[in-house]
Amino acid sequence: MEEELKIRILGDPVLREKAQPVTEINGELRDFIGKMAEMMYKVKGLGLAANQVGVAKRFFIMDISQKEGKPLLEVYINPEIIEAEGITEYEEGCLSIPGYYAKVERYAKLFIKAYDIEGKPFERELTGLHAIAFQHEYDHLEGILFIDKLSPLKKELFKKWWKKNAPSKK
Ligand SMILES: [Zn+2]
Repeated sequence: MEEELKIRILGDPVLREKAQPVTEINGELRDFIGKMAEMMYKVKGLGLAANQVGVAKRFFIMDISQKEGKPLLEVYINPEIIEAEGITEYEEGCLSIPGYYAKVERYAKLFIKAYDIEGKPFERELTGLHAIAFQHEYDHLEGILFIDKLSPLKKELFKKWWKKNAPSKK
């Protein structure tokens, strides 16, 4: 099981699967999350959801502090959005859709709950990029990608762009 993780690219059916709840937070899961974190830092992503590396389970990791230098890994297991308010917009990208960026509307503020890597429940208020990144990753667990949120016209343009720019399958 020492297989290296591979980021799944648009077109891989696992990205469209609705992820199932995590039933046990144990050493195996912690090891897996450690590998995901290595991968996320290697490719300089702000977040990575389990189904992006082929596991349709409800957890993801984020680190929005990367740009400022000091890494702060956040782990969200079985996350839930309790409240959401306000509207904001941000140019998003996704490790599963390399090279494409587009503005997407999101809630500006969230109140969420989840389990941490030790299996302890916690609640948190998220704002700004924190809230945006959370929604992007949470959508992955629902099988939703940020391109689903584009206008019909932009979706058409994206399809053409992807035909030319999708990474070739090896
Ligand atoms: Zn993504």
